[in-house]
Amino acid sequence: MADQIGRLGVRRWGRIGYVLGIDLLAVAGVVVALSLIPIPSANLLPFVLLASCALLYTELSVRTAGRAFFDLNSVWMFAAILLLHPVLSALVITVSYFAQWVRVRPDELCDRTFRAAATIVAGYAASAFFAMVTDTTFEHMPRDIASFALVVGAGLVFLIFKWAAIQVADRTAVSADYAVEASAIALGIVLAWALVDWPIVLLLIIGITLVMHRTVLIRQLRDQARADPKTGLLNSAAWSNDATAWLARGESAALLMLDLDNFKSINDRYGHLVGDKHLKGVAEVLKSEVRATDMVGRFGGEEFVILLPGTTQDDAMAIAERIRRRVEGFAVEGLGTVTVSVGVAAHPDHGTTLEEVMNAADLALLAAKTAGRNRTLLFAAPPA
Ligand code: GH3
Ligand code: MG
Ligand code: MG
Repeated sequence: MADQIGRLGVRRWGRIGYVLGIDLLAVAGVVVALSLIPIPSANLLPFVLLASCALLYTELSVRTAGRAFFDLNSVWMFAAILLLHPVLSALVITVSYFAQWVRVRPDELCDRTFRAAATIVAGYAASAFFAMVTDTTFEHMPRDIASFALVVGAGLVFLIFKWAAIQVADRTAVSADYAVEASAIALGIVLAWALVDWPIVLLLIIGITLVMHRTVLIRQLRDQARADPKTGLLNSAAWSNDATAWLARGESAALLMLDLDNFKSINDRYGHLVGDKHLKGVAEVLKSEVRATDMVGRFGGEEFVILLPGTTQDDAMAIAERIRRRVEGFAVEGLGTVTVSVGVAAHPDHGTTLEEVMNAADLALLAAKTAGRNRTLLFAAPPA
């Protein structure tokens, strides 16, 4: 236990050191750039435009920003990285992060500062990549395929550095939607191009960004409404909905119903928070042992259901056994182990509606419990 606390202490100090290191790196970069590179006066207008875009976007998305797990500020931030002196692009990044913080306070000030710093450092990395492969600036590059590849390469460097820098500090950071982030960076490239060649196109890009924001938000809210918050699996209503829709197509499927064994004793011995960690761990096991097209749901407290489309009884039994063995070997930080009992039934062999198949799987589960738990049983119809 003392050893565990010691390890946690080292990890905590390591994290604080890392966060401060990134903050310092961002500030040091600004100081060095300020002393080495003069700020061109032609940068001032695009700087004002991009910083205004960040403020405008924050204002227009403020009603929903508190609920969103994403923002599209990379549009302005990456355009700034391509076009502006490093100090000005760091300022656009700072404005993007802090305008949002002032308006909606989505997180703590130190987390916000770290995210801004990590983004500024990722911007330096993209600029360094750019400077290494070409002597010309973005404005003066020929509009050919080689330049296009270079600019896209710089976008990738920005995306990867930003992701890596944030993940190192916080492995549990809400896993961002990288397709959305990459699209924002791509739009940033188009914006930088527009600001050089045809600045009024900026108005269209602001419009596209706002529509993108709404579309991503709607998808995110829909996913949230379907998910069980504790485990991230489908909640019972969403699972039943999807499973009913599949069976209505008349196709075959197998159903696993799983219930953790003596789970109450884990809660009683270690507390509910440790119990919750077991639930999350088991949910991870379930997801990792089935295909992406299989439907995994949390049915109730410590009960799970899995619908396996197009799977035979034999295959379903093999999958259920595999899951049971994985759960048996799974432990939470030395705080107890759990086992699971599984009941298996098939459609249409054991029922034609979802309710009938679930009843059959539930009876098999009950039989598995009665037979001593930590086992898998297939539904057996009572003799006529
Ligand atoms: P059995 O082997 O017969 O299934 O025994 P059991 O103790 O698992 O069965 P029972 O259904 O009596 O108890 C389930 C327990 O699951 C009761 C409750 O404390 C616990 N539980 C239900 N939901 C949660 C949850 O969200 N978090 C935690 N930590 N525990 C939960
Ligand atoms: Mg139960
Ligand atoms: Mg149980």
